[in-house]
Amino acid sequence: MLIEKSPFVHIFSSSGVVCLYHSLYVTNIYGSHLLAELFGSLRFPQTIEQAARRLCKNESCIRPESLYYINLLLKHGFLRYTDSQEESHLLSNLQQQAQYSDPRFLYLVPTSACNLRCKYCHIIDTWAAYGHHHMSLETAEAGINKFMEHSSTSCQREIMFYGGEPLLAPEVVKHAVSYIRKVDNTCRITMFTNGTNITPDIAKWMADNDVFVIVSMDGPAEVHNQMRCHADGHGGFEDTARGYDICKKAGCRLGISMVLGRHNIPGLKSAVEYLINRFEPVDLGFSTLHLHKNGENPAMVDVPLLTHEMIDTFKFIREKGVYAEHLFRRIRPFVEQQIRLKDCPSCGGKFLVAPDSSIGFCEAFLGTGRYYYPLDSFDLSNDGYNEWKGIAPIRRDECLRCPAIAICGGGCPYDAWVQHGNINNLDTIRCQQANILLEWLVWDLFEQIKGEINDPWDIIVPEPAQRQMIYSKIAVNNKSLPLQGYSTYGESN
Ligand code: SF4
Ligand code: SF4
Repeated sequence: MLIEKSPFVHIFSSSGVVCLYHSLYVTNIYGSHLLAELFGSLRFPQTIEQAARRLCKNESCIRPESLYYINLLLKHGFLRYTDSQEESHLLSNLQQQAQYSDPRFLYLVPTSACNLRCKYCHIIDTWAAYGHHHMSLETAEAGINKFMEHSSTSCQREIMFYGGEPLLAPEVVKHAVSYIRKVDNTCRITMFTNGTNITPDIAKWMADNDVFVIVSMDGPAEVHNQMRCHADGHGGFEDTARGYDICKKAGCRLGISMVLGRHNIPGLKSAVEYLINRFEPVDLGFSTLHLHKNGENPAMVDVPLLTHEMIDTFKFIREKGVYAEHLFRRIRPFVEQQIRLKDCPSCGGKFLVAPDSSIGFCEAFLGTGRYYYPLDSFDLSNDGYNEWKGIAPIRRDECLRCPAIAICGGGCPYDAWVQHGNINNLDTIRCQQANILLEWLVWDLFEQIKGEINDPWDIIVPEPAQRQMIYSKIAVNNKSLPLQGYSTYGESN
């Protein structure tokens, strides 16, 4: 029988160590230069004996180490028999999974108005044409009904209040929450807020109704206020921090969402350290900036710098045991060896109901006139829904040879649309992020397991339990964390 190398294997090397990484099985094997030489020499199918002889540099007898080596690579899928169907079966299974329809998140936008004018906000950019609308109570109920009708009861439903600033329409929020509790008391509810309009009454009401509160904060006052300003230009930090403290006193569960840009990068780690010490959030979220319609966002920073700052910050927070949404969407697939089929839940998993009684999937498209439909007549046969649902790198030929296919999930379709005029194209910004992060994960795993390659025939295959060392003190599968469904959305079975 003939063997060949798998086309899903990618070679990394650093400081004399070579790592083979299988991008579909999400497995790593570490060894010496022999690994790279073997893969370089396997340009066409050959027998195990031929390959072993090459590994022994054509010595007249085959060393037992070389047979062991090749059989180990076969066992873990880095090499394969030419008639093996295992990878193609896995690939077609993943491609089918990526097309399942599973709405489970609803973004409800009680108002498109916001009292802040954050300088990097892509929503201000796209929503300018949309104007300011408050949602009616009837639309809130109709949106919740539509979501309940089409979402699966087999998974945890989550409803997020989003804006604009949702707490500028407290009567809509309160009505919607009591309606949600009436129709599905198990539904998780999250409030995304800039925190500036929180009163003791609202905070108590959110605590009483088990609403998880996520407050947008980008760092200490001097960092936050560079971007997050009121309409008259003065910074919003003081009002936001006051709102956060009121919620904490009322007993709310609280998280912080940070937007990363030139105001907190470089310096992300110290901004995060400040927020953790001062506010003690249950979790953190890192959002990377989206492009404005003209293809730029002046607050964006260089992608390698941004990604390395996120990595340095992750190394810090994992020792503190603090969970960070967004980063974990990439890290968990590598650790758990499960492919992330989708990154953005709008690709089949999320509806957004807007104040004007339209329904769509992505907040950034609201105001562009694209991908929003009348709520009354919407159902899962909608063309736009089916276009979004089909977006997944595993279904794109150009992605199949990418090392980062297991961890990227395809990035942001809106940014792909700004860059290429098509939501089902590459978001090249997040492609670069994913590839930098993958390379770091490959070598962080080696460091965590204290790997050493001293002899050319040394070879290390990390055990699944060892991969968990990347999490350090973070209880990553803690179901009580907010947005757990959101964070794990798109992972393969
Ligand atoms: S496509 Fe997804 S990630 Fe991108 S802006 Fe829209 S909702 Fe956010
Ligand atoms: S990182 Fe980019 S090229 Fe690679 S799989 Fe993801 S979307 Fe495709």
